[in-house]
Order: sequence, then C-alpha cells, then structure tokens
Amino acid sequence: MIKGIDIGGTFIKVLWEDGRSEKHYIRDIKNDKEKLLNKIKEVVKEGNPAGVGIAVAGFTSLEGKVYKSPNIPNLDGVDFRELLGETSIPFVVGNDVSLGAFGEWYYDNRDSDILLLVAVGTGLGGGLVYKGEVFFGVCGSALEIGHHIIRKDGEVCNCGRKGCWEAYCSSYGIEREYKKLKGEELKDYEIIERAKEGEKEALEVVRLFKDYLSVGLMSMVHIFNPDRIVLAGGVVQTMGELLKDIPKRVKEISESLPSSCVEIRFSKAGEFMGARGALAYALKKLKE
Ligand SMILES: [Zn+2]
Repeated sequence: MIKGIDIGGTFIKVLWEDGRSEKHYIRDIKNDKEKLLNKIKEVVKEGNPAGVGIAVAGFTSLEGKVYKSPNIPNLDGVDFRELLGETSIPFVVGNDVSLGAFGEWYYDNRDSDILLLVAVGTGLGGGLVYKGEVFFGVCGSALEIGHHIIRKDGEVCNCGRKGCWEAYCSSYGIEREYKKLKGEELKDYEIIERAKEGEKEALEVVRLFKDYLSVGLMSMVHIFNPDRIVLAGGVVQTMGELLKDIPKRVKEISESLPSSCVEIRFSKAGEFMGARGALAYALKKLKE
C-alpha cells in the first residue's frame, strides 16, 4: 500500500491509501538535524509501504533535493535520494503546495483543466495543475506566488525581500499589522478570534488582509486564466466565514473574460492537504 507524507515545521503528517492517517510531532526535534532525519526515515519505512510520496515545505528539486526550507532549516541541502537510498522504497518528492494542488485535482476537481491552489498559512504558497499534470517549472520551484511583489518597498517578507504578497497574506503578516495597530503581540488565530467577536482593530486587520488577498488573486486570474482557484491553508480555514465574499469580490474586480471562466472554491482537504497531495502524486507516478 502507498502512503503520502507531509513534512511541515510542527508535524509530519501521514495519509495511507486506505484513509488511515497519523501525525508525528517534530517541533521538539526539528533543530537537531540527526534526530530529524532519523525520524523522517523511520516514518517513511513504518508499515512497510509499497511506495511513498513526500511533500516538503520549501524549494525542492524534481530529483528530490531540498535547496531551502525557510520553516525547517535543517532540511536545507538534504537530498532524499541519499537519505532514503538504503530503504529501497520507491518514492517521489515535491513542494508541499504543488503536490497539494495535485491532490485537489485528483480527489475533488477532475473537471478542471487549469487548477490553481493558493494556500495561506505561515507563508503563502501556490500550486498549478494543467490538464492533470503538476506544473513544477524547470527546476521544481514554479508558483512561488507568495513572493511576487504586491507593494514596492513594502513590508519585509520571510524571504528577505520587501513587499511580497506573503508579507501581507500570512500568519506573520496578520500578527505584524495587529501589533502596529494595537501594540499587542498575539497569534494570528487569536486576532482572527477577536475579529469574529467584533473588535475594531482586529476587524481592520482582517479588512486589510482581504484587500491584499483579493488584489493578489485578481493578478492570478489575469496571469493564469484558470478555470478553478482553490483557497486553502490554516489562515483561510481559521477565517472561515470572514472570507465568504472573496470569490465574488475577486470575480468583480477581474477582467470580464478570465473572470467569466473561473470558479473560486475553498478546499475541503483540511490539515492533511499536503499528505493527500503527496499520496495522490505517488499513486500516479509510482503506478505509471
Ligand atoms: Zn517573499
């Protein structure tokens, strides 16, 4: 049986072909490279799978080398071919949001020809599936849409540049805006909770987030002319109802031709989106 694995900053999540799932907490070991890599090997081998799909948060080559993982720096430079060479388990590796997009297409959106996944959580990532194939780019790093500049000389992004879309639409973007307005350091979900309770400053932060989200999505509609945009990620899930007008709003501000072709939906995958995408991708690639 094949399984999908999603290596994130807090958990390694696993989803098997038969629907079984597991979560392994790794935040306490992610700063110890040896422990982290041993844990990954152990999770890959567990249950003796026939094949494994591996989703990694960060810049990951098509051959399986992680060039840069901002949230898990100990994965920088790790080559999965070397790491898993001794296990003889067939595997595929890819960026978590690119594979997540494939999972969206594979399980929920087979009728889509061009599907764009936009995931907003700690960062903002994108993935594109074109006629059933993931668009990885030449090196595997396409769709880094979170780092397209939405405001020249704007707020600092985790990538080091200024004014990226992610600098506004991410958990840390929300936390920074709230601190500027209210002077308090809260977590994104606490701020969103306050917005739901009607607090003025929190609602202002949500308003700003939605403005940047809408404008960025409008650009995506103009650039890719997709038939489906799927919104996902922790921040999107937590905001829930607060974002229900986003699909209509994005369609209204976009050009009429691409706007007429696109449907904007919210993901149903939940927290196993990356693992589900890795599983779907492994099912496709390892059975080909
Ligand atoms: Zn950036």
